[in-house]
Amino acid sequence: MLAVPQPVLPPLPPLGTQRRLSVGVIGAGVVGLSSALWLQRAGHRVTLVDPAAPTSNRGYAQAASFGNACTMAFGACIPVATPGVLRAVPRMLLDRQGPLTISWRDLPGLVPWLASFLRSAHPEAVSRIGGILGELLRLAEAGHAPLFAAAGADDLRRMTGCLYLYRSAASFNAAQAEIMLRHREGVQMRILEREEIQAREPNLAPLYHKGLLFEDAYSIDDPLTYARRLLARFLTDGGTLVAAGVRGIERDTEGLTLRCGDHNLRVERAVLAAGAWSGRIARSFGDRVRLDTERGYHVLFPADGQLLTAPTCYPEHGFYMTPLAEGLRAAGTVELGGLGKPLRPARTAAIERVARKLLPGLGNTGRTWLGFRPSMPDSLPVIGPSPVDPRIIYAFGHGHIGLTLAGITGRLAADIIDERRPLVDLRPLRPDRF
Ligand SMILES: Cc1cc2nc3c(=O)[nH]c(=O)nc-3n(C[C@H](O)[C@H](O)[C@H](O)COP(=O)(O)OP(=O)(O)OC[C@H]3O[C@@H](n4cnc5c(N)ncnc54)[C@H](O)[C@@H]3O)c2cc1C
Repeated sequence: MLAVPQPVLPPLPPLGTQRRLSVGVIGAGVVGLSSALWLQRAGHRVTLVDPAAPTSNRGYAQAASFGNACTMAFGACIPVATPGVLRAVPRMLLDRQGPLTISWRDLPGLVPWLASFLRSAHPEAVSRIGGILGELLRLAEAGHAPLFAAAGADDLRRMTGCLYLYRSAASFNAAQAEIMLRHREGVQMRILEREEIQAREPNLAPLYHKGLLFEDAYSIDDPLTYARRLLARFLTDGGTLVAAGVRGIERDTEGLTLRCGDHNLRVERAVLAAGAWSGRIARSFGDRVRLDTERGYHVLFPADGQLLTAPTCYPEHGFYMTPLAEGLRAAGTVELGGLGKPLRPARTAAIERVARKLLPGLGNTGRTWLGFRPSMPDSLPVIGPSPVDPRIIYAFGHGHIGLTLAGITGRLAADIIDERRPLVDLRPLRPDRF
């Protein structure tokens, strides 16, 4: 059970005079899957299109939804760009091993994104963005609950809460503004003293001053299995999966054509949920969105799933250590550097080095992984109709919290298509806000 009662969404009203529409959902990451299921519940004829759906391990490992830190982070209303990050930019440019890094060579291409990122770091912007994220996060569990139930996935939830640890009094003090913002947004959390941390997590090296326990957070064991269960429910309920990549969308008065080589698909509506790859598809019909990727990594320690009881994060190191059935997954950090370049072993080595310091009992490493967070500069997702054609609904850009926000995003996509009044003000999430 969750420690705190969560809001329940009003049930979907019956379709009534709404026409049953054919909808193509582009991308079978957790956002696309959740959107497909909500649209199906609303009575639409839904086709999911993805060249690498979660039917096999290898293809899906590209998706951010495969390798994330597995936490339902309902307290994550703090954007990535904050005044503290602004101060850290010079160091980011020099330290290629740090929690947040940019390569000099990629800098010119990143200028527009970085300029918006830096503008979002001002205190008033952080407060405004925190309020918008807070509103979405308060609905997040209600967006998931019906999908977990329908997919028979409740057993994958580990209701352990989630721990943030601060190594020193200085780092805890520096976090006070963020803690106050979380309080303002109603985040359920409790300060833990050293002794409590030690009692909860005796395998951690005592490299902490205080902690924050997010009591209503939980983790998913594991995201690939979750995605497979969502997909199985979708197919059982009559959904169609097309294993192809969408190269572009053509528009005419009758409808939309999703161009996928041999498998062109005619639909009346489309949901663009291709994660970090969504920008390329939007460009095919003349839209330019300020989407880039924050590359993130994970290192798996296969024999060490028992070393922690709950996902544990030191914000100053930028990654979680999440206990899972497959082992302990150390996942996170940010590297700005686009979709094209391969995994940089120096980044996973840096995660491994810090993780061993924090958790000295760690054994051998297994899989290392690079994934692409679909990131907007202001840490807000894009959810809403395309300014080019309102029959195309955007659902991407969830950055660090796409697993957490997937359910509510799917529900909002269904509300938009059915022209129901959305549950949140969508104006701050519109694609052309920059
Ligand atoms: C290291 C790391 C840790 C994270 N930890 C957390 C966490 O603890 N909690 C949390 O809430 N979030 C976390 N996230 C963020 C979260 O994983 C992402 O925000 C989320 O998975 C994004 O989901 P998505 O469905 O939008 O994109 P993706 O999961 O990337 O899926 C996109 C899909 O689109 C498909 N696709 C690509 N091109 C095309 C095309 N042309 N046509 C059709 N389909 C296409 C891909 O094959 C893929 O399946 C983390 C991310 C990283 C990298």
